[in-house]
Amino acid sequence: MPTFKAPRGTRDLLPPDRTGWSRLERIAADLAARYGYREIETPLFEQTEVFERGVGAVTDVVEKELFRIAPRTEESESWALRPEPTAGIVRAYVQHGMQTWPQPVRLTLRGPMFRYDRPQAGRYRQFWQFDVEAIGDPGPAVDAELIELGLRFYREAGLDGVDVLLNSIGDATCRPAYVDELSAYYRAHVDRLPALERDRLERNPLRLLDSKEPVMAELNALAPKITERLCEPCAGHFAAVRAHLDAVGVGFRLEPTLVRGLDYYTRTAFEFYRRGAEGQQQALGGGGRYDGLVELLGGRPTPAIGFGIGLDRVILALEASGAPQVPEPRPVAVVVGADPAATIERLQVATELRAAGIAARAELGQRKLGKQLEAAAREHAHFAVIVGDELADGQVQLKDLEAGTQRLVVLADLPRELARAHASHRHGVGED
Ligand code: AMP
Repeated sequence: MPTFKAPRGTRDLLPPDRTGWSRLERIAADLAARYGYREIETPLFEQTEVFERGVGAVTDVVEKELFRIAPRTEESESWALRPEPTAGIVRAYVQHGMQTWPQPVRLTLRGPMFRYDRPQAGRYRQFWQFDVEAIGDPGPAVDAELIELGLRFYREAGLDGVDVLLNSIGDATCRPAYVDELSAYYRAHVDRLPALERDRLERNPLRLLDSKEPVMAELNALAPKITERLCEPCAGHFAAVRAHLDAVGVGFRLEPTLVRGLDYYTRTAFEFYRRGAEGQQQALGGGGRYDGLVELLGGRPTPAIGFGIGLDRVILALEASGAPQVPEPRPVAVVVGADPAATIERLQVATELRAAGIAARAELGQRKLGKQLEAAAREHAHFAVIVGDELADGQVQLKDLEAGTQRLVVLADLPRELARAHASHRHGVGED
């Protein structure tokens, strides 16, 4: 037999690990709802052109990393797995006429993204994002609200010391002249550029600014800065974003070389990093304004802003910071029995408990009572319900596995007894 493995760059999240993810998903969902973001789901794949237009043809994400699905027949469409959520959400905004809804439309999504990149620590081919988008508001207040939401997510997740790196990358009025100036600057130093950067210089010079090539650091430090070349409206917008961030107590660091990898961004651009962990695969999230995207995908000109937070990296950062593992939920009760063969009775009792809303597992194997109790203790169940001869009188034994006590309980009272004893125990020892 061949040995099968999860594809390169993907992972199975096994039950002990999945709990940490569920916790983050819950925090994300609660937070998004608290800020008025409504849930949306879009397909995991779209027509390739949605990404080619929406993400930008001259980006790594589309050129090199798009998971393309080969058409099955000549006529069939070309699809790709989503590398990021914004293009699909904006496609949905246009398709469903959301421009007629009250603006801005605040949307949130959590789910897997796919990029055919070289896997390494913190970089996977399937990874998860918590995404929020506010479509139909030019800002600047909503920009600050969204950045503050992102920071609050890390805080509520228990990750301290997350910084906001902030920039404005202008718009169609001021950016072209800046890009020309930037090209001229790099051209004057073309002999120092690595091959890939030379190629980028021809196709998308802005990308050189976020190059991670060591030789570029020095060149980039002296490159013309977009923030000094913004047109009046963009400069005013940027100043107002900063004022709103100040007003809600969000500290930030201006980072003039922050340009974001995706083409559709305008004005506000930001990334989240953990202090002291600002390397290439360490961005914990990022986002920005994309005032041109709705039109690019066939809608009316509509300003918008959003971010994507990488949940895989938040999990890694939490582990690195020594955060305790999130325990799996444990059963309140395990239904065991003196007669190994009496599976019908055990299944019936457990079914009643579950119908009453109690987390209960029945021992459905046919092993001895001692082994059944051992298994219940291993799962850290609070109680064992022991089904025995007393069942004929409508009673069972209720054993408190933590206190080591045991008493007879009338079957009809069992759900209420269990719920009460479990609740008073939890309050008593202050567990969650
Ligand atoms: P981006 O759209 O590239 O800015 O991605 C937004 C966030 O998603 C990043 O800040 C990362 O936290 C996360 N992310 C992006 N690509 C990957 C990847 N290949 N593996 C894990 N996380 C990723």
